[in-house]
Amino acid sequence: MAQKIPTRLYLAEDEMPKNWYNLRADMKDKPDPILHPGTLAPATAADLEPVFCKETVKQELDQTTRLIPIPEGLQQFYKAYRPSALIRAYFLEKELGTPAEIYYKFEGTNTSGSHKLNSAAAQAYYAKEEGLTTLTTETGAGQWGSAMAMACAFYGLKLIVYMVKVSSQQKPYRKALIETYGARLIPSPSDTTESGCAILAANPQTGGSLGCAISEAIETAVKTGQCRYVLGSVLNHVLLHQSIIGQEVKATFEKYNIKPDIIIGCAGGGSNLGGLIAPFMGEKLSGASQTRFIAVEPASCPSFTRGRFAYDFGDTAKTTPLLRMYTLGSGFIPSANHAGGLRYHGMNSTLSKLYHDGHLEARSALQTDVFDAAVRFAKLEGILPAPESSHAILAAIDEALECKRTGEKKTILFGLTGTGYFDMTAYMAYNEKTMTDHVPSDEELEKGFASIPDIPQNKKPLP
Ligand SMILES: *Cc1c(COP(=O)(O)O)cnc(C)c1O
Repeated sequence: MAQKIPTRLYLAEDEMPKNWYNLRADMKDKPDPILHPGTLAPATAADLEPVFCKETVKQELDQTTRLIPIPEGLQQFYKAYRPSALIRAYFLEKELGTPAEIYYKFEGTNTSGSHKLNSAAAQAYYAKEEGLTTLTTETGAGQWGSAMAMACAFYGLKLIVYMVKVSSQQKPYRKALIETYGARLIPSPSDTTESGCAILAANPQTGGSLGCAISEAIETAVKTGQCRYVLGSVLNHVLLHQSIIGQEVKATFEKYNIKPDIIIGCAGGGSNLGGLIAPFMGEKLSGASQTRFIAVEPASCPSFTRGRFAYDFGDTAKTTPLLRMYTLGSGFIPSANHAGGLRYHGMNSTLSKLYHDGHLEARSALQTDVFDAAVRFAKLEGILPAPESSHAILAAIDEALECKRTGEKKTILFGLTGTGYFDMTAYMAYNEKTMTDHVPSDEELEKGFASIPDIPQNKKPLP
């Protein structure tokens, strides 16, 4: 008789992971190196340090150290809101009538409302240690800006946040939260930077995009003394920090003797998914498990499922180093009616490599289906999920229903990355049935692909 699993699975403070897990160390086929956009040679620490904090650059380039200690001063901060809840979705299982066991890891209980605080705190911690005074960043839906504002307030740093203009209009409470924590918020594109002015001149009506806010934040970071830029997703050091999620799940599952068959995460730039799956993917790559991993992205911004695997810029102004990733092109601007987050054109390079090599699956979802799943989940499990997280809920429900059809008793884990409290405008659109779906046509995608750099590396046949 199997041991009865409690609804909430606990991990005591002294059982908390003390290390992040660097999945790249256990990948035989490593992700392709970051390239300097001018020379097209692999980027060095010296190339990246004018933009990013030193310690995060070191982590970004480290493909060999498996376990990286979480600094003591950061562990203290993590303890204020971690471990995050790991919950057995008994009510959802019952409603679906599935033999599957469903678990979710809920990252939405801290005030910023999502997993992003895990990396925000790490990046602020390292900036402070390095003696920097100011950080700049961009934010799309506002979660990253909120997380950075909290982290900078805690560690005593100034913060400038470029917020995608349409989001700053749709989400006044996000803006207020960021400002309450003391950050300066600038809707992007703005006239405070050359890249912002250029984008406005070319497209005065634009509601902005993450790529363009990134350009502005980087420009300001390199022009300001004792200032660096921080990014909330996409890069490998961010995935490293987010591995705290997977490390906690792994420690907890081992305690309760649970082995996941399927792990699901929503995918924007890939940080929560990468962090959640990291230790389990490491096991799979070593041959110790057969776990399936599923990325879920919006059909309106389908980097994995319809993108190209190519070297591309991380921003619209084409100022960042080049990353080999699944991308829609840095010139891709997702449709404005898309409320579900996850609007970034590219995808983390490690996840891109794993997807390309067949270790990770991906699917896309319509936002109306995603909100159906969100509301269903909210009514059963009591938590109002973020629209982004709800992509994972939808896939978890689909997999649980598949188990019902086949009679298989699988164990499904998904990442519930955040709360939906700040997304009530989107829920209102859903409730009022004014929410629509937009799936870009091939022609629309071609426009984005045309912005992928025409360099020799992108012409070589892929291995
Ligand atoms: C930012 C965000 C995401 C997507 O970002 P990733 O880097 O892909 O994890 C997902 N869910 C929530 C709640 C977010 O705030």
